[in-house]
Amino acid sequence: MKAIQVGSVAGRAGERVSGFIEVPPGVDSATTIPVTVMTGQRDGPVLALVAGIHGSEPSPIMALQRVRRELDPAQLSGIVIIVHVANLPSFTHRTIYRGPWDQKNLNRVFPGRVDGTASERIAHAITTQVIDQCEYLVDMHSGDGNEALRPYSYWNKLGLDDRVDDAARAMALAFGLDHIVIDRGRPSDPNASLFCSNTAHVRGKPSVTTEVGGVGVPTEEMVALNVRGAFRVMRHLGMLAGPREMVERPRWIEPSHVLTSPETGTWHPAVSPDQTVEAGALLGHLTDYFGDLIAEVRSPISGLVTYVVVSPAMGKGEPVAMVGHVTDS
Ligand SMILES: [Zn+2]
Repeated sequence: MKAIQVGSVAGRAGERVSGFIEVPPGVDSATTIPVTVMTGQRDGPVLALVAGIHGSEPSPIMALQRVRRELDPAQLSGIVIIVHVANLPSFTHRTIYRGPWDQKNLNRVFPGRVDGTASERIAHAITTQVIDQCEYLVDMHSGDGNEALRPYSYWNKLGLDDRVDDAARAMALAFGLDHIVIDRGRPSDPNASLFCSNTAHVRGKPSVTTEVGGVGVPTEEMVALNVRGAFRVMRHLGMLAGPREMVERPRWIEPSHVLTSPETGTWHPAVSPDQTVEAGALLGHLTDYFGDLIAEVRSPISGLVTYVVVSPAMGKGEPVAMVGHVTDS
């Protein structure tokens, strides 16, 4: 069995080794990325499971602690790289969307820069240490600390390479969430891939982004769904024995719209995740800081609410909700 080294963590056949990728200081402080390398005793694929790109999305973070404990390297074919908390500054400072030092969204700065700000240096470390060494990747998100969400996956239908797109579709079905957003809008430039999973995808590595959990609270149900998804993908890739399960009746979401706030103020949501709305339906309204109405946000299409911001603080241009059209084929 080949072994790989991720940051300071040298994998060893049949063992679970944990440690850190060091992100050196630059224009701002140094940070680290906690990782575990689980190395099987038999050859197989290299799968990366990434949590905590956004630090206030704890369901996947807690789930990967459980995966580390429950996954027995002696039963594994191949290697699993677990990134426990990709964005430790955001996690420890409890920020939403953006890192605390540079105010950048880590999931918009990939593949990163070795001489950039903290978010860019973290992205660079994940690109070079994790993505460059893996063959498959699952980037595990949830609704952010302010977002209530119903679980779904994104299938990145990039159109660069049918083999990669098809394998990514199968991974989404294997992860097990029956609602899957078809996303055709991600960039194909490897030097401006922006998103973590897309960075793997444009490099020929099938990947999927999952959304399970929300509002900063890791409920048992959402943690368990993340754990189940990780193990289902490992079985799907032949890394563990056991039945290969696929979602039997996927509900594809296309098109989908992320609605953004027309004003800065106080947000009052009018819908809940998993609610069906008609075109023109009120998704919520904004008041000024005194409570007087300043704007409404309505759905441009009939569809399903996948997530909605449920806390009042709102800035102009920030997301308020996502609505998608659902089909069964
Ligand atoms: Zn996220």
